[in-house]
Amino acid sequence: MKDPRKQEYEQNKLAKRLRRQAGEAIADFNMIEEGDRVMVCLSGGKDSHALLDILLGLQRRAAVEFSIVAVNLDQKQPGFPADVLPAYLTQRGVDFRIEEQDTYSIVKRLVPEGQTMCSLCSRLRRGVLYRVAGELGATKIALGHHRDDMVQTLFMNMFFQGRLKGMPPKLVSDDGRHVVIRPLAHVAEVDLERWAAHRAFPIIPCTLCGNQADLQRVKMKSMLRAWEREHPGRIENIFNALGRVVPSHLMDRTLFPFEALQATGVADAAGDHAFDPDDACGEAAPTPERPLRLFDGA
Ligand code: SF4
Repeated sequence: MKDPRKQEYEQNKLAKRLRRQAGEAIADFNMIEEGDRVMVCLSGGKDSHALLDILLGLQRRAAVEFSIVAVNLDQKQPGFPADVLPAYLTQRGVDFRIEEQDTYSIVKRLVPEGQTMCSLCSRLRRGVLYRVAGELGATKIALGHHRDDMVQTLFMNMFFQGRLKGMPPKLVSDDGRHVVIRPLAHVAEVDLERWAAHRAFPIIPCTLCGNQADLQRVKMKSMLRAWEREHPGRIENIFNALGRVVPSHLMDRTLFPFEALQATGVADAAGDHAFDPDDACGEAAPTPERPLRLFDGA
């Protein structure tokens, strides 16, 4: 049994960290501005519950005024507990809308048995949410994706699409009409799990449809978690790398004019160190007794 004072101390620390990280993401990417009407997409999972909770907390403290409306899409999955979110949102005094649309039947009809339904399901859900955002006059659409989702997406795109492409913290929707924001971009999933347990959110699982939520993503998540166990801080490093891109050291000719490169005759201390031993790999610097060997057997 944990000391209750220690528990309270840890929860306060977690609450502050979540507020700080969300506040930083909002400020860094100019996610919320004066007068915004922020539509929070509330699926009923831990991430969207935490997003709403954190935004409500920030709204009370923020220097800019903005309003919040929570939207849940009732996709008519069998066993969906339709009364849970309205009761919770009413009790918290949050403006909300429950949109009923039977996307479940459409997905079931169109996706062959045994195949994952998540991609079509998400596409249909996105269309409905954009329409509702227009109807509600929302200026921003907030999604509950977090740091680990962003890193997973990066690897999914590399593994299966051959593209260096992640999940942006802010973007214009594909219909060009809305600005989508991810205020939890800096937040680690384990923190959201702890926060959801502490706040006892009424969680509705995404798997009511009977589908195993995107199997490849589940595998990616366990691969990244295994890396993190073996090398703590690795996910944070990968995440930070997304904001420190060096186009001259990648291979995209549309981002860097490799064809036009010419010697400048000017030394650059921050230039290429490709042939230098890398401290991070644990290699020692070369000495006259032990010169640098570029190739095995050289
Ligand atoms: S798990 Fe089910 S409800 Fe969730 S995204 Fe996939 S198909 Fe849709």
